[in-house]
Parts: sequence; structure tokens; C-alpha cells
Amino acid sequence: MADNKKNKRNNRNNNNNQDENYNPKFRKIRKKVCPLCADKNLVLDYKNAEQLKKFVNDKGKILPRRATGACAKHQRDITLAVKRARQIAILPYTAE
Ligand SMILES: [Zn+2]
Repeated sequence: MADNKKNKRNNRNNNNNQDENYNPKFRKIRKKVCPLCADKNLVLDYKNAEQLKKFVNDKGKILPRRATGACAKHQRDITLAVKRARQIAILPYTAE
């Protein structure tokens, strides 16, 4: 029993190591540009629900940085704005 477990683990590790041969064609990294850095005229407004809807999913959750593409600084601003909007009932805490 113990040996089987060990073998499984080893196989997994080996598979991970073989990822060095992973075809990079399927891994094209497209660098996202922060929407707030790209457009300097765009100012986040917690009273503007239409603007903030882009940064929440259909459940009302705030999207992660990997989805919004925002930089750390602006992601913080987005989070703050969404939370303020929720507080004044412009955006929902949860949907459905
Ligand atoms: Zn930014």
C-alpha cells in the first residue's frame, strides 16, 4: 500500500518535470494593460454603477486582477469603489 502511494507521487512529479517540453504555442502570454492606466481620463467613481459593473461578475463578486488586468494600485481603487458602491446600494453584495 505504502509503496503504491509513493509510486503515484513519483509519477506525478515526473509528469510535472516533463512540462519543460510543453509546447509554448498553446501558452501565448498576452500581456494585459491596466484599463485605468491605459486611459488616464478614466476616473473611477463609486457612484457610477455602469462603470463598476465591468469589474464584478454576474454574482456581484469583484473580479480578480488576472481577469480585470488592472495593476495593483488600480485594483485596490476598483475594490474600494465597488465596496463603497455596495454600501450605498448601487451594486449588490450578491446577486440571485
Ligand atoms: Zn493601473
